[in-house]
This record gives sequence, structure tokens and C-alpha cells, in this order.
Amino acid sequence: MTTEAPLDEAQVRVRIAPSPTGDPHVGTAYIGLMNLVFARQRAGKFVLRIEDTDQTRFVAASEQMIFRSLRWIGLAWDEGPDVGGPYGPYRQSERTEIYRRHVDLLLANGWAYRAFETPEELETMRRGQLAAKLPPRYNGAARHLTPEQVEANLAAGKPCTIRLKVPAEGSTTFRDELRGDITFDHANVDDQVLLKSDGYPTYHLANVVDDHLMRISDVIRAEEWISSTPKHILLYQAFGWSRPRFWHMPLLRNLDKSKISKRKNPVSLVYYQQAGFLPQAMLNFLGLMGGGMPQPTEQQIVSSGLNTKEADIFSLTDMLARYDFNRISLGGPVFDLTKLKWLNGEYLRRLSPEQFFAALRSTVLSDTYLAEIAALIQTRIETLGQFGDMTGFLLADNVLPTPEIFLPKKRSLEDTLTFAADMLPALEASAWEHDALDAALRAIGQEKNWSVKETFMLLRAILTGSTQSPPLLESLIVFGKARSIDRVRRFLAFELDRLKRNANAKPLVTSP
Ligand code: GLU
Repeated sequence: MTTEAPLDEAQVRVRIAPSPTGDPHVGTAYIGLMNLVFARQRAGKFVLRIEDTDQTRFVAASEQMIFRSLRWIGLAWDEGPDVGGPYGPYRQSERTEIYRRHVDLLLANGWAYRAFETPEELETMRRGQLAAKLPPRYNGAARHLTPEQVEANLAAGKPCTIRLKVPAEGSTTFRDELRGDITFDHANVDDQVLLKSDGYPTYHLANVVDDHLMRISDVIRAEEWISSTPKHILLYQAFGWSRPRFWHMPLLRNLDKSKISKRKNPVSLVYYQQAGFLPQAMLNFLGLMGGGMPQPTEQQIVSSGLNTKEADIFSLTDMLARYDFNRISLGGPVFDLTKLKWLNGEYLRRLSPEQFFAALRSTVLSDTYLAEIAALIQTRIETLGQFGDMTGFLLADNVLPTPEIFLPKKRSLEDTLTFAADMLPALEASAWEHDALDAALRAIGQEKNWSVKETFMLLRAILTGSTQSPPLLESLIVFGKARSIDRVRRFLAFELDRLKRNANAKPLVTSP
């Protein structure tokens, strides 16, 4: 049933497809940069699509944050929800009719079927399989419903999902441009839900339909999507469409080589912006990930007088001229904050004094930020000269309280660190405004048996390095979610490390 025109082979079209589920992630910027470079090098188009069909994870402010953060590091898309384009709408929640039409095609041609199991029944199925040491997956029972049974269920108003009918036998092979052929046995591919009972498509259906309708020639995404690709290939087959090329980029990793995580690194682009990283340094750093930038030879280094580290400094223009997708190494690029800071320092030193001052004034010393800080302390100081005494913690990057300050009288160090670790997910899940934060902190305190006073004192100590400060919640709000959470994370890392070394090391930096 090939009804669509084949892809225009000459036109390169790539896309990123972030889901607005929270703060924009460094991984999105990394994959975005790779897509941008790929498109620009081939006179192609770079599309931004918002994949917002998962209602349970949707965060309203996230889309605008994605736009702002990606623009901040210098990525510009040719088509997208905010700039329009010929293949819109570019927001999946505005395309639900399109997905429903397409799923009807699959029902009609036998590639999909309706299933009526309730979430509880699916859970029982899953438990049974786990108990029998089988991989948990849908058992395909609804494949055998007769048309009359389906009709009866529909007439009875039973909620249903629509699933992909993965062929029982055989396997699916696709070519990954960086890895070569990859084969998945159908025995290991689940009958994926395509349309949920709420009428929204799953990622798999919407992603394939949109990549096709938006004429995407090359799908360049993170390697975590490799295991989804056989489902996508089957969908291309089911629709009778030609498939795009796939490039699965190596995942960013923490220093210990585990998949990058917010436990070990700040992963929000908002953090880097607010903590005063320069966008060009950030872009350069992300450009180093994956290893596609040719490194100068030993000889070139000697003859040009460059040192090896300087060879790592390049602009987007350099990348467009030299980045080579055939050189990408699959080893797993390490997101090394020390390296990023070094790089940022290099960029800062290349600024003129005027530019440097302007950079400070547009970020950590912006009028907006200083005005918010001023509002916190106007009622508390006696001379303007005391401004810094009370607000230093909001201007410093590294604040670490000593145990005398953060340790409550009746708590052990271990208990206190465990509770600080418990606070992290509670803070992450909270909206960053007064009442929500207040409720979140009280709730986690109650759950873990920490009094409100103890809870607030501990967080105050971590945030400010002191037992006294402007009001805690207001201070958290002014300092911002990304940086506040990073401060707790760094406190924990420092204290846990100290505990491990069992040494009496003093904090490297104490609060002002
Ligand atoms: N919505 C997916 C994400 O959040 C897109 C993955 C893809 O590029 O196919 O990353």
C-alpha cells in the first residue's frame, strides 16, 4: 500500500524531537548540534518537533524552556512549532487526527489489532512472566479475538489500545550508519501499543508517522533508541513506506562511564546558563562529544605551535567545515565537567575586559538577578555595605557548610546525608514556587520523620552555608531550581566522599 511519494533522495532533512517533560537536557543540545551540523553540511533542513503526547509526563513550561535553551547555545531550526514550516503542525498534540487515521490503515491491513486488557490484567500478566523468569511482554491474547468479540467489547464501551502485530517468526534487520547491520529476532519484539486508550499515540507510532510525513531523510538520535528501531522498521513496512537512514549517536556518560544522570552531573541546560557558562563554550564542548571533529596530527600540532588542548577549541563554523560523521567513535563520550570548566575559562579569557564585564552583567550579576536579591534583604540590613554579608551565598558558586553548621543536634552524619539525598527528588519534582516548595519539604520531612524545623535548617545550611539567612523558600526561588539542586548535589558528593575517605577534611570553600 505505498500511497506516499518516495523520499526526495536529494533533500537532506533531519530533526530533533524532544519531549517537554522537564528542564531541557544537555543530551538534547548534543543531539541537536549533531543534527544541525549534519543538515548545514548538506544544505539540508533542520526540524524541531515537539513530542508531547505523553500526558502523564507533560510539563507546561518545558517547551518554552527547550526553545530558549537551544537558541541560547546557538542552535537554529528551519522548521518548528514556533517558526512554522511546510510540514506542520510540529507539535504532536496537534496531530492526533493524523495518527488515528494512520492507525486505522494498520487495522485495515492487518498490521494492528485492538486489545482490551485493563492495566490490572496487564500487571498480573507481567508479574506472572517475571515469576516464571520470562521477559515481561504482552502475550498477544487479543490477536485471537473474533470480529464479533471486538465489536461486542467496543459496544460495551470497554477502553482499548491498538497494538502492532509483530510477525511471530523471523527477524528485522536495519542498517545503522555508524554500526552496520543490527538484527532483532521478532521473538524479542513486543506487540507495541500504538494508540493508547486515551486516544493519544505512543512515541513509536507518532514518531514514525511524523518522520515520514515530515520527509525526514536521516534520523540522528541517541543510541538508547536502538531497541525501539525494529518496531519503527516494522511500522515503515506496515505502511509501505521507505525508511530513513538511522544514525544512533553514542550516549553521553558520567565520569564513571555510566549513562549521564542528574545524580552525578547537572544535566539541565538552564543550570549551565544560570551558572555562567558561555554558550559558545557549551557548544564547543558538546561538539567534542562523539569524536567527529578531526584532531590535528602530531606534526600539525608541532608546526602550528598549538598544544593538544587548544586543538579542542573550535566554533560552529569550524565544525561545519571539519566535522566528519564517519569519524564518530562509539566509545561513549564522557561529559567531563572539569573539561567543560577549563574550556569555559579559555573562552572567558578570550573576551575583552568590556565583553567580560558585559557577560557578568547579563548573567550572574544581571539587573534582574540583583533586583531579586535586593528584595530579599532590604528589610534586614542597616547599611548598604552589608549587602554582600547576607547575599554572598547567592553570588557564590561553591558553598559548603561545615558539619557544625549543617548537622542537627540529634542526628548522625549518615542520617543527615540520607535525608539530604531524599530531599533531592522531592525538590526536583516540585514546582519552583513558595507554596509548592513549602508543601514538598514538609511532606518529605514528615515521610522521613524530620521535623519542619530540622528540614528547613538542613536545607538552609546547604544553600547558604550558614544557620542564618534571608527566608529559605524565597532564597531558593531567587537562586533558581537548577542551581539550588546542584548545590544540594554537590554538598552530598562532597560529604559522601569525605565520609568514604573517613578523613577530617575541611570543606574546600566555606560560605562567605
Ligand atoms: N521524543 C523522543 C525523545 O524524547 C525522540 C527520540 C527520537 O529522536 O526518535 O528524545
